Amino acid sequence: MPNLTAEQEALRASIKKSAIIWGVVLGVIIAGLAYWLLGSQGSGIRSGGAALAGLVSAGMITRKNLSSGAAGAKCANCGAAFSVARVDRQEVLVNTTPKEERKVLDNGDTEITTWVEEVYDVDDTYKCSSCGDTTHKTYQTTRRKDEETVVKSAGKKGADAGKGNSHDKGKSAGKN
Ligand SMILES: [Zn+2]
Repeated sequence: MPNLTAEQEALRASIKKSAIIWGVVLGVIIAGLAYWLLGSQGSGIRSGGAALAGLVSAGMITRKNLSSGAAGAKCANCGAAFSVARVDRQEVLVNTTPKEERKVLDNGDTEITTWVEEVYDVDDTYKCSSCGDTTHKTYQTTRRKDEETVVKSAGKKGADAGKGNSHDKGKSAGKN
């Protein structure tokens, strides 16, 4: 890579670092999986195969992340490599909606989950450190706030139970 500025070098290093971390983490997971899959083999083949699978996939994942990270950091305006990074994020709350979800549990109790769903307009600003060109990426994101879960016991027939249609064990009544 010819003549990168300190800023570009720093961005390149951080892209490389996260690519390697992801490669190693996923490589270890795949090695573990391979070790498990080779369960019937001798221990030499087992650990050798697992190490090989982990290394190969770590290498591939790192390479793939590196190239996609590099592509994302390349300036569309001036073509400089490793020059575009996010410099700002603005979030505007556009909508709040109270939500409720009821789920009947196995024992007949009702689990009631309530939350406030917030919708944000997000505006990310990306800036090129070479030519100063700024671009924006806008999208919406939703978040849950004040989530609360209560369980309403079915056994406790409260005041609002209302009409006492007692069907305690009445399910088998029809067929005889
Ligand atoms: Zn640029």
